[in-house]
Amino acid sequence: MNTKNKGFNTKLVHAGAFDDPFGSAVTPIYQTSTFAFKNAQHGADCFAGKSDGYIYTRIGNPTINAFETAMAELENGFGGIATSSGMAAVSSVYFALLGTGKHIICSSSVYGPSRGILERDFSRFGVEMTFVNTSKISEIQKAIKENTEVLYIETPTNPTMQLTDLVAASELAHKHGIKVVVDNTFSSPYLQKPLDLGCDVVLHSVTKYINGHADIVGGVIIAKEEEMYKKIRASMIYLGGNMDPHQAFLTHRGLKTLSIRMEKAQENAMKVAEYLEKHPKVEWILYPGLKSHPQHELAKKQMSGFSSMISFGLKGGLAAGRILMDNVHLALLAVSLGGVETLIQHPASMTHAGMSKEARKAADITDGLVRLSVGIETVEDIIHDLDQALAKV
Ligand SMILES: *Cc1c(COP(=O)(O)O)cnc(C)c1O
Repeated sequence: MNTKNKGFNTKLVHAGAFDDPFGSAVTPIYQTSTFAFKNAQHGADCFAGKSDGYIYTRIGNPTINAFETAMAELENGFGGIATSSGMAAVSSVYFALLGTGKHIICSSSVYGPSRGILERDFSRFGVEMTFVNTSKISEIQKAIKENTEVLYIETPTNPTMQLTDLVAASELAHKHGIKVVVDNTFSSPYLQKPLDLGCDVVLHSVTKYINGHADIVGGVIIAKEEEMYKKIRASMIYLGGNMDPHQAFLTHRGLKTLSIRMEKAQENAMKVAEYLEKHPKVEWILYPGLKSHPQHELAKKQMSGFSSMISFGLKGGLAAGRILMDNVHLALLAVSLGGVETLIQHPASMTHAGMSKEARKAADITDGLVRLSVGIETVEDIIHDLDQALAKV
């Protein structure tokens, strides 16, 4: 079915599906590494790009392609590139767009390894980098150099929940010939469409909201223009970080319920955030849906909902946070996010432990920060769980 002009939910359910010879209602798992050519000429045509036949699963596969097509339609991009993990998506984009003597400007508090691979690995190949609080457009402006190639943004950021104005950031970057890449993992295309706001590339850890069931690790990249799409796909194929057909099947299945999962999770998150904000033991809380969030207005303008990630700190800092984490029963003490189950974790000792203490301080990741990914359970149960654990603090 052609879903190009259909609504978002129709695209979620049907985009990417192709006519299966047996009429299979869902895209089958083409669990194969390679594809037989009809004859020598067909093989030559596939390699020359004159036929769109499949060659080898690292290069392309029908099950993976169905998911990529769906994601490209949902993000309004030219094409999608599915990867083995979110980090394979991040590193493939860096690999495709950076090189010796090139400079990247990156949000200071991004997903830990997205920063770590620049500092530890890309620096060894002569890539220059500046980490700034991209929520302040003036800071991006100050960081721009002659050789700046990429502006890499996470919004909202992990775990400090800072938003970057994507329209303003893209306008500024494009004036200087800089490409804008956005990690849209925290919002999903259901709530935010960076390519529509002027950005060039969007990527996801589909491990999170896109798949939504905490049973696979995966990633996807979507480019707005054909040229960029081809460039990144070529790098991904050589790096070898392709998604696997079975992973693509599960992720595509999870994707179909994105809207209803996201609606429920963010409805729950709003109630949990309101509960925490009033709790006497909570020192501060950041949730884009609360009026108290410093960028609540930007969130309303740029996103169509506030997602289900909450960061907060307790009076008594890390010690108090530890007691909370050791006493929750419903929420799992686990990293990752965006699944149907509620998760709680401590970035300074877990996801962002790889950053230096100074870098964490500069990025506002305090030792007392606790991160909550609100799931789709009965919200009274989530609040009751937090309530009984907070009583022990
Ligand atoms: C989890 C995550 C990643 C990395 O994804 P993996 O699937 O774990 O490799 C990148 N960016 C953000 C915002 C994430 O939450």
